Amino acid sequence: MPAKVRKTEAEWRRDLTLEQFRVLREKGTERPWSGEYDHVFEPGVYRCAGCGAELFRSDAKYDSGCGWPAFYEPTSEDALETEEDRSLFMRRTEVLCASCEGHLGHVFPDGPHPTGLRYCINSAALKLEEE
Ligand SMILES: [Zn+2]
Repeated sequence: MPAKVRKTEAEWRRDLTLEQFRVLREKGTERPWSGEYDHVFEPGVYRCAGCGAELFRSDAKYDSGCGWPAFYEPTSEDALETEEDRSLFMRRTEVLCASCEGHLGHVFPDGPHPTGLRYCINSAALKLEEE
């Protein structure tokens, strides 16, 4: 398992932008079609905007049309944690960064081959390192 990154709320506020803090630490959701990476398909690695952990690769990114960056699989199983989310009268599976426990987005069972999963992730939670 990756090493855990722990910071106080004040430290997160200092280190993140307002939008990053709202998404990662307050489980916010950016407006659809507004995120920086919604339509970016440059080759590279998507890291956690909170702690820099490698989360997704551009190979697994696809255009789902949902308005947020979508991936069909993480770089490794250990990179993410999931939790049942019953907010907003829906039953969804929340996706968190395993290292810093930052909120990334949700995963849905309507993705493409080969996993059938759609990781719907906020751009604000990601940082693309282009290759
Ligand atoms: Zn993280």
